[in-house]
Amino acid sequence: MLDVTLVPCLSDNYAYVLRDPATGECAVVDPSEAGPVLAALAAMGARPTMVLNTHHHFDHVGGNEALAGAFPGLRVVAHASDQGRVPGQTEAVSDGDRVTLGATALRVLHVPGHTLGAVTYATDDAAFTGDTLFLGGCGRLFEGDPAMMYASLRRIADTLDPATRIYCGHEYTANNLRFVASLDPRDGEVADALADAERLRASEQPTVPKSLRDELRLNPFLRCDEPALAAALGVTGDPVAVFTALRERRNSW
Ligand code: ZN
Ligand code: FE
Repeated sequence: MLDVTLVPCLSDNYAYVLRDPATGECAVVDPSEAGPVLAALAAMGARPTMVLNTHHHFDHVGGNEALAGAFPGLRVVAHASDQGRVPGQTEAVSDGDRVTLGATALRVLHVPGHTLGAVTYATDDAAFTGDTLFLGGCGRLFEGDPAMMYASLRRIADTLDPATRIYCGHEYTANNLRFVASLDPRDGEVADALADAERLRASEQPTVPKSLRDELRLNPFLRCDEPALAAALGVTGDPVAVFTALRERRNSW
C-alpha cells in the first residue's frame, strides 16, 4: 500500500508526500507552498525525486521552484497541455501514461473540467484528484464545461476500484456535506458523514482520505443518474443536465 503523508498548506490545501514502500522513493503531490512541504520532508528524512502536479493553479504549484532548487534533478510532472503554465515543469504526461515511483506505478487520468489540463494520479489503492473530485463535492468549472467535467468525474468513478483512498486538493468536506444535507435533510447517512467531518475538524484532524466507495454513496456529483436527485433539484433530463443544475446550485449556495 502506498504510504501517504498529508501536508496542510495555505488555508485549506493539502500537499502529499508519497513513499513507495518497496524502495523508499518519494514524491510530492501539489506542493502549494514550499515551507510546510520542506518541513514534512525533513521530518521524514525524505528526498523526493519528483513533483506531481494535478493542475496549474497557484495553490497547487506554488512550491515547485523552491523544491526544485532544494533537490537538484527533481522531476516536475504535469499534463502536456499545462506546459508553460506549471512552474519548473520537466515532464509532460497524457491520459493513460504511467509514472513510476520505485515499485509503484501511478496511472495518469486526464480529467478536464476544473481546468483543461487537470489530471488524477492513481495507484491500485490511492488517487490524487486535485480540484476535480473533492470529498462530498467537485471543483468549479474554470476552463471546462459541464459535460466535460461530468465525464471526468464518471471516468474517475468508473475506472478506480471502490476501495481506492481519495486524496483531494482541499479540506472542503464539512462544507460540501452541509450542502449535500441541504438537498435532502432526511438523509441519515449524509447527516452521519457530516457529523464525522465536523468532529474531525473541531479537533483539527483531516477528513481526507475517504474511499471512493463512500463517495459513490454520498457525493451528489457522482449520483447525477439517480432519479431522486433529479427530482430534488426539479430537473428533467440526462445526467449532464442534473450535473449542470447541481453545480449551479452549489455555486450560489
Ligand atoms: Zn484549482
Ligand atoms: Fe485549488
